[in-house]
Amino acid sequence: MKYKTLFLPLTLFIILYIYLIKTNEIWQLPLLLTMVLCVFSSWQLWLVHKYRTETTAAKKDLIEKNQKLESVFNHSALGIMLADRNGKLLDANPKFLEMLGYSMEEIKTLSYIELTFPDDREKDMEHYALALQKKLPYSKEKRYIRKDGGMFIGKLSASFILDDKGFPIYTVAHVEDITKEKQLEDHLKESQKRYRDLVTYSPEPFLVQRDGMIIFANEKACKIVELSMTELLGKSIYDFIRPEFHHKTRKTLAELQNVYGEAENRPLEIITANGRRLIIEITLKVIDYEGAPSIQAIFRDVTERRRLEKELRKTTERYRFITENSKDIIAFLSPDGRYEYISDSCREILGFSPKELLGEISFHYVHEDDAAEMSSIIIGDKAGTSDHFSLLYRHKLKNGGYIWFETVAKLLLNEQGKAESILAISRDATKRKEKERSLETANDFLKMLSNLDGLTGIPNRRSFEETLDHEWQRCLASGTGLSAIMIDIDCFKEYNDTFGHLAGDDCLKEVASIIKGSVKRPRDFVARYGGEEFVVLLPDTDLAGSRKVAELIRHSVREKEISHTASQVDHFVTISAGYASLLPENSQSPKELLLEADSALYIAKRSGKNRACGIHEYSAHPKRITVN
Ligand code: GH3
Ligand code: MG
Ligand code: MG
Repeated sequence: MKYKTLFLPLTLFIILYIYLIKTNEIWQLPLLLTMVLCVFSSWQLWLVHKYRTETTAAKKDLIEKNQKLESVFNHSALGIMLADRNGKLLDANPKFLEMLGYSMEEIKTLSYIELTFPDDREKDMEHYALALQKKLPYSKEKRYIRKDGGMFIGKLSASFILDDKGFPIYTVAHVEDITKEKQLEDHLKESQKRYRDLVTYSPEPFLVQRDGMIIFANEKACKIVELSMTELLGKSIYDFIRPEFHHKTRKTLAELQNVYGEAENRPLEIITANGRRLIIEITLKVIDYEGAPSIQAIFRDVTERRRLEKELRKTTERYRFITENSKDIIAFLSPDGRYEYISDSCREILGFSPKELLGEISFHYVHEDDAAEMSSIIIGDKAGTSDHFSLLYRHKLKNGGYIWFETVAKLLLNEQGKAESILAISRDATKRKEKERSLETANDFLKMLSNLDGLTGIPNRRSFEETLDHEWQRCLASGTGLSAIMIDIDCFKEYNDTFGHLAGDDCLKEVASIIKGSVKRPRDFVARYGGEEFVVLLPDTDLAGSRKVAELIRHSVREKEISHTASQVDHFVTISAGYASLLPENSQSPKELLLEADSALYIAKRSGKNRACGIHEYSAHPKRITVN
C-alpha cells in the first residue's frame, strides 16, 4: 500500500525533473519538490480520512448485527444452549433456563447429560457420541428432567461448531417443549385405538370394501360369513351375495359412489362360507377410508326375524280364522274403553253390526245398575296385581232390551308396561244368569228355613243373634236405644207333665203367636230362644217402651186363658219377662243387653213369676233393678 502510494508522486517528480533539465530551469527544483510534497501529503491525508470513515461504519454495522443476534438469543421461543464438546454447558438463553428451572450460574456447573431424563441417559450418550463422530446436525425428541424433578418432552435440534481443522469444539442445541403436543398426540392415538376397538368388537357386523374387495371387517362380520379375518380380507363381497342380487348390488354401489350417498336397509340374501343362507339388512355409505373413497357396510342378520315374521303372519291368520268363526264376541278396546275391533258375532248376539259399534265407548252399552260395580272391578284390577278380570253385566241390545253378558277382559301391555289395549271376549250369559237366579231363590228359601224355628215357625236363636248384631250397629250409628225382652213360660215342666209333650208343643206355638202379635213396629223382632224361652228385640226403643211391650205380652198370654191347673202361679198359662235397654256404645257388646234382660228375668222368677221386671241401664243409676 505504502509503495503504491509513493508511485504517483515519484512519477510526477521525475517527469517535472526531466522537464526542468531540458528547459535549464533546474534552479526551480526545490520549489518543485515542495509542491510535489504538498500534493502528496494532502492526498495521503484524504486517504487516511477515507479509511477511518469506512472502518467506523463497518464497526457500527457489526455492533448492530451482534445486538440483533443477542436479541434473538434472549427472546427466542426456543431454548438455546451452548456446550463444549464434552457436553459441559457454557451458555443458555432465558427460555432454556426457564424450561429447566435453573439459573445461569447453576446451569454453567452442569453437563448437558445431567439434563437428560435419568432412564434415557445411557442411550442418549451413545447417540451423542455417534453424532459427534459424524459431525452432522441431528434432531430428535427426548425427555428432559427439570431442577424440580419434573419431566418434559423436548424436540432437540443440535449442530456442531468446528475448528479450523474441522474438529467439533462446541455443540449448539435448540430445544422446543413439545410435552403438550405429545400428550395430545398420545391422546389422539389412544382415542383412535378406542374407536378402532369399538368398531372391531362392535356387535354390529361392519365391513369396508373398495373396488369390490373387502379391506376391513370386524369380528362380528367374520362370524356371520363364517370366515376368519385373514380369510375374509381381500375377498370380494360378491363371493357371498347370491348371484341374482349381483346386478342390483352393483347398481346400488355405483349410484352411491357417484354421489357419496347412503343407502339404507336393503334386504339381501347371502350365502356364508359354509353354505348357510342368510337374509341380511344392509346400510351402505361411502366413506374416506385411509385416503380413498370406500364403501362402508353395516349389516344385520335378519334371518331369524324374517322367520318369526312369517310365523307370526301364519299365527295371525289362524287367530283371525278363530276370531271370525267364534260364537263369542271378540273385541279389542282402547284403554279408554272404545271399540277398536269387534268380531262379526256381535250381529247375532247384540243385533248391532261391527260398524255400528266401532269407535263407540263400550261402557255406554252397560246397564246403569251394573256400571258402578263394573268400573270398580276394572279400576280395582288395574290398580291391583291381576291383568285380567271377569265381568257379569247387562249389555244393551239394538232393540233396546238387555242381555246378560259375561266378559273376560285382559289388559294388553306394551314394552313399558303401560296398557295399550284391552282384549275382551264376551258371551251371552242370560241362561247362566237365569240358572243362577233360580239357584239363588232356592238358596234364599233354604236360608229362610234355617233361620226359622221348626216348631213355632218364628225365627230361631241363630237368626236372632244375627239380627241383634245388625240392629246393634244400626242403633250405634243412629244413637238410639235398643231394648230386649227375655220371656219364659212359668211352670212349663208341670204343663208338660200334666198335659203331655204334644200339648206342651201346642202351648209353645200359641205363646209364640201371642208374642208375635203383641209387637207392632216393622223392626221389632220375635224369636224362640230355646225350650220355653222367647226373646223380643225392640230397636229404637227405650226402657219405658220395652216395659210396656213386656207387660202387653204378659197380659195377652194371661188373657188367652190357656188352662194350666198344675201351675203354682195361676190356673192359666203365664209368663215371666225380663226387659233391658241400652244405648249402644263401641266399647260394649250386644251380649251385654241379653245378659241384662236375662238378669231381669231371673228377678221376675224369683219375685213370684207372672211378672215383668226391668234393668235401668242408661238412666241416672245404671244397673238399678226395678221390680214391677
Ligand atoms: P219356671 O217357672 O221356673 O220357668 O219353671 P219351668 O218348669 O217352666 O222351667 P224348667 O226349666 O224347669 O222346665 C222347662 C221345661 O220346658 C222343660 C221341658 O220339658 C219343657 N220344654 C222345653 N222345650 C220344649 C218343647 O219344645 N216342647 C215341650 N212340649 N216342652 C218343652
Ligand atoms: Mg225355662
Ligand atoms: Mg219356665
